[in-house]
Order: sequence, then C-alpha cells, then structure tokens
Amino acid sequence: MYQLNETHARDLLSWVESANDIACDFPIQNLPFGVCEGASGEASRVVVAIGDQVLDIAQALKAGLFEGLAVETAQACRSTRLNDLMALGPAHQSALRLQLSRLLREGTQHSATVKRCLSPTAQKHMLLPAHIGDFSDFFTSIHHATNSGRLARPDNPLMPNFKHIPVAYHSRASSIVVSGTPCPRPMGQTKPTGASTPVFGPTRSLDFECEIGLYVGKGTKLGESIPLDKTHEHIFGLSLLNDWSARDMQSWESQPLGPFLAKSFMTSMSPWIITLEALAPFRMPAATRGVDDPELLPYLNEPSDRAHGGLALNLEISLQSQAMKRQGSTPCVISRPKFQDQYWTLFQMLAHQTSNGCNMLPGDLIGSGTVSGPREGELGCLKEMTADGKIGITLPNGETRTYLEAGDEVVFRGRCEREGYASIGFGQCSGIVMAE
Ligand code: CA
Repeated sequence: MYQLNETHARDLLSWVESANDIACDFPIQNLPFGVCEGASGEASRVVVAIGDQVLDIAQALKAGLFEGLAVETAQACRSTRLNDLMALGPAHQSALRLQLSRLLREGTQHSATVKRCLSPTAQKHMLLPAHIGDFSDFFTSIHHATNSGRLARPDNPLMPNFKHIPVAYHSRASSIVVSGTPCPRPMGQTKPTGASTPVFGPTRSLDFECEIGLYVGKGTKLGESIPLDKTHEHIFGLSLLNDWSARDMQSWESQPLGPFLAKSFMTSMSPWIITLEALAPFRMPAATRGVDDPELLPYLNEPSDRAHGGLALNLEISLQSQAMKRQGSTPCVISRPKFQDQYWTLFQMLAHQTSNGCNMLPGDLIGSGTVSGPREGELGCLKEMTADGKIGITLPNGETRTYLEAGDEVVFRGRCEREGYASIGFGQCSGIVMAE
C-alpha cells in the first residue's frame, strides 16, 4: 500500500486558482493522468489535470522543469498514450507525481514557465488514455448479484460460488470508447416473454452499469501470478466505467456461457485516471464478510487487504432525457452507490485474475462489475431499479423510465471523501443514447 506523503497534505494549495475550489475534482492532491488530442496534425499528448487546466508534460519536460527525472519516465511522458508510463511501475510514477505536485503548488519558483505549458481543459479533446489490449469485467457487488439474481431465481438469488470466487467474464476491448461518445442502440437476438421463437431487432431494454475500471500498470509474464500483497505494484489507477448492457439480449444469450453481444457493443470510460497513490488517503477496510461466510482461500486472504482493500469512493448516477434538456431541466441524480460496499476488493480481483498464470499487460482494463449498495437509492443499473423493466422510475418532469430511450444522457461521477483529507474527484463518464 502507498504511504501518505507530502503530495497528500490537506493544506496544500496550487497557484492554479481553480484547483483550490473545494468542489473541484482535480485539486493538487489528485493529479490524474489523461491523454488529449494534439494541436492540428500533431500526435496526442500525455497530460495531467489541475483545476480546470491541463498540463502538457512533454512540453514541461522540454522547458526543463523536471529535475533528475529518470530518463525512462521522461521518455514515457513523451508517448502518445499512457501505456509506457504504466509499464514503469509505482516508483517511477510516484517520483513524477512528486515533481508535478512541487511544480503546481503555491510558492514554486517556476510558475511562470509552468503556466506556458497549461491550457484550459474545455479547449481539449480528451482521448482514451491507454491502448487497452484486454478487458475483463467482474461481478463483485453482493447487492447487485443478489438483486439481479432474485429476478431470475427468487428463492435462491445468489449463486453458490459468489462468496468463494470473484466471478468475471472476458469482455471486448475494441469497443471501449471515451466519455462523451454517443451510444448506438444495438441490434440482436431476443426471445420476448410469451413468444415461442426468438426475433432479431433493436434491444428494447438498453441499460447502463455503473462500475469502476482498473488500469493495470506494470505487466506480468505468462505463468506469473501476482500475490495479493503485491497487487498494488501492478495497478496504475482507476476511472469510471459504463458497461452499457442490452438486458433482453443478455437474458436470452447468457446461458450457459455468460454475456456476449449484450455487452460487447460499447463500454464508456472517463478520460482521467486517478492513480492508486492519489487514492491512498481513502483506503479503508474491505467490506465486512458475514459470520457465516466461507473462509477465504489463502491466495485471496491477506491481512493488509482486509485492513486497507476498500475505498471510500462515492458514486453518483444522473440522467437527463431529451425533454428535460429541451425544458432546461438539469440532469437528475437517480442513484448514489458507494464503492466501499463491494464484496471483493480491487486487489483480490487482480490476484484472482492472475492466479492461473495468465499474463497482464500495461493498460489492460479490469471492470469492478456494477456497484450497488444495500440501501435504497444505491442501485447501479436500471435492471435493479425497475425490476427488469416492470416498475418505472419517475423523472422530475413526470416522464417515466424503465430502460433507456433515445436522447437520454447518462452521467457517472465519483468523489473520494474522508475527514481530514482534501476530497478528490474522478471527473465524469457520460454518453447519450442515439436515435434508432
Ligand atoms: Ca458489468
């Protein structure tokens, strides 16, 4: 686990004034990495968010602002994606973060030079921050598993393996897109209730799933497993993830091999990666296991994971219909799940995924699965909120929704909050459902 250091100090302020606003997602304690489009004709750039600005790291390197930064770190920052920086591992990433913090904090001698490397985020087109070679999606919320299981098996909602193994499936990397990309309504085969034969057509139950995405940092060799207490050395950081889902296609195709086309049509990612080091102040005990829960197998059980494997991260899902937009109504928050309620930790997910010796590459993506909490107002997808389309939710203008309709915009936000520390945010992951 990362130790707290001077970059986490609560009273640290930046000379970039927008970063000192208490509601800002990107104060100086955050320093998330992203990639934006270059100026016309130029390659994409590795950038860091500070307040409402982005810092172009390669430009800052050219201006001679980094002292004693390792050659390979500097080289990685001149790349067009974050994979090279991810591959270097925590010591390099931490050294870079320290220098960025010192350059951007109040009192630095270099602010005039750094200022020339800043530009407003609003003027930048953010891209997917890494080349994602592989994507697997877990199923780690016991509340989501129970709620969705109950719809199919009212008497026995939770599968017998859930408390033994972090369940996952391999998803599709080619259709991962950056926040803001519109979501097309997928076509597919479904078997409507009461019909004797299946039909092919656009999904009638388009849903979102509010998840956290984990980017792998330093990779592993084929045959190598990551012990649970070393997983933190292989995690670069986290982003918000929307696993768009077609429920009618999913329920028909998923037996016996799991989801396929119901999920692979698109997955959205927020553009900023919040590093594991930035998240250090918000680590907390893993969710408590029930007294009757089975004992964890040794490869999934480690004292520091029980003590620090959780994360105080509050999520927020909002929805704005086309009519609401036309009427000038702001998006309405429909749920506030908490990541701390996840049954399995991020670290257990990575230890499990590599337990068979499957190698991981820098930039590989692991989804947490839908984040749903035990309380009302904490559900992470419409399937749970509407009992699979049976009970509509009402929007502030009187419209109702079971599943998503054309023009609906879904926005996820995330914020880490803890007494005694500066809050940091994840930015947003959004997408509008396209007309058919
Ligand atoms: Ca999912």
